[in-house]
Amino acid sequence: MARYIFVTGGVVSSLGKGLSSASLAYLLQSRGYKVRLRKLDPYLNVDPGTMSPFQHGEVFVTDDGAETDLDLGHYERFTGIAAKQSDNITTGRIYSDIITKERQGGYQGKTVQVIPHVTDRIKDFIKKDISSEDFVICEIGGTVGDIESLPFLEAIRQFSNDYGKKNTLFIHLTLVPYMKASDEIKTKPTQHSVKELRTIGIQPDIIICRSEQSLPHDQRKKISLFCNVPYENVIETVDVKTIYEAPISFNKEKLDKIVLNYFKLKSKKNVDLSPWRKITNTVLKTKPSVNIGIIGKYVNLKDAYKSLDEALVHGGIDNNVKVNLTRIEADRLSSNEIKKNLKNISGILIPGGFGKRGTEGKIDAIEFARNFKIPFLGICYGMQMAVIEFARNVLKIKKATSSEFSKSGENIIGLMSEWNKSGKIYKGSVKELGGTMRLGLYEAKLLENSLIRKIYKSKIIKERHRHRYEVNIDYKSRFENRGLIFSGISPDNKLPEVIELKNHPWFIGVQFHPEFKSRPLNPHPLFSSFIKAVKTKNEKY
Ligand code: GLN
Repeated sequence: MARYIFVTGGVVSSLGKGLSSASLAYLLQSRGYKVRLRKLDPYLNVDPGTMSPFQHGEVFVTDDGAETDLDLGHYERFTGIAAKQSDNITTGRIYSDIITKERQGGYQGKTVQVIPHVTDRIKDFIKKDISSEDFVICEIGGTVGDIESLPFLEAIRQFSNDYGKKNTLFIHLTLVPYMKASDEIKTKPTQHSVKELRTIGIQPDIIICRSEQSLPHDQRKKISLFCNVPYENVIETVDVKTIYEAPISFNKEKLDKIVLNYFKLKSKKNVDLSPWRKITNTVLKTKPSVNIGIIGKYVNLKDAYKSLDEALVHGGIDNNVKVNLTRIEADRLSSNEIKKNLKNISGILIPGGFGKRGTEGKIDAIEFARNFKIPFLGICYGMQMAVIEFARNVLKIKKATSSEFSKSGENIIGLMSEWNKSGKIYKGSVKELGGTMRLGLYEAKLLENSLIRKIYKSKIIKERHRHRYEVNIDYKSRFENRGLIFSGISPDNKLPEVIELKNHPWFIGVQFHPEFKSRPLNPHPLFSSFIKAVKTKNEKY
């Protein structure tokens, strides 16, 4: 029978609930247990798919095509378990299902209410699709005290009552600030946050205190006393130098032991921290560095390309180099200053994106990478822009464009429905922005003797997609005659999935998002190869 662990957050947001949940999951997994991680998000969007990365950071895509919260990326990277559609729910999804059911007469005349209808739906979600797991860790988004979180907190309170206290555990993560002026560590915000939680009927079993400095005995005692939690269950999480240290630091604080003791379970195996020790040492060790320029639209928000940043770091770990990421706002990249702006950059990456803004800057940067033989990786939108660049500057199709942002040019990139009326993949109208994309895992065949095939060491690959537009396959021979090869194609030969340049050391565009499948303990071959190419280029000059 599964045991449920609920992780809530207090005082401020962005405390690292996702990372803490993922680290705990790793530790329990390493002790021989099967875990599952879930995220319950209190906002009203049905899923984060339509949200700007500025709002909520990256949209993480699962194998089964769900557009989810970026915390699911942490879960996958730390546990290696592929997240599913059923691992992320929002208030919007719950209300949307309830309203649909109500319109269909599904409530048989009853008044539909937050309690029990919304809370029941939340509880159903928590239990859904669980079979042989020993632990289900559910992270509640937002901060205790938010109006939106209330139905979720009420639902987990009820859940614990229904399912039994001995089978459920509450962890509350709070901030314990350090006041420089008085040189003191303050426990009052934590006390208030726990008070708020207890008003709702939830008594935390473990409190994790996030702080800049180690928590002295007196402060721990105070939190234990005022928050009604045993002293040993007040644990600290001091800022780590790299996120890969988190499982080590939680183990040092005995979090996994406390959890197993609570459920009266024994460790089945000795916890193995060696991969994290190794990776932490590699990351922190001084070593040569490479500079990668990420030319995108959401460069100011750190979390906007979370999985991508991580995947590049993983590629660096694999090549024993430090990867410096320079985020460049495509909008500000003017064509006559490209050389100056990209002076210290040895690898160019154009990530996924939507809409017109910054397009021309990206195309100019790609031209620069192509002409000056700078390693280039284009992801999704980045591949589409590489195709447009080549069409304009090499094939001399001056009006080459994408129907995503131009109605008057020649659409090398467009919706499948625009040139293939029987296209099965594109579903729905573009008026509906949510859920109308090619999403999730799709197969691609890789061309023999191509660079991409060498990198993947495989004929067939499966990668995650998230896009509406496609490169028009009808142009294939024109591109290939001039040296831009369609080296990855969908099994039905209709959709270009990978492009690469002949006569260039490393120039690849992929229609999918390889970054979602890169893991620190198992770096993605495409990122490893990209970083290797950049490192080789650095060594040459
Ligand atoms: N906007 C492009 C499309 O929808 C690319 C999307 C992306 O980069 N994820 O096809």
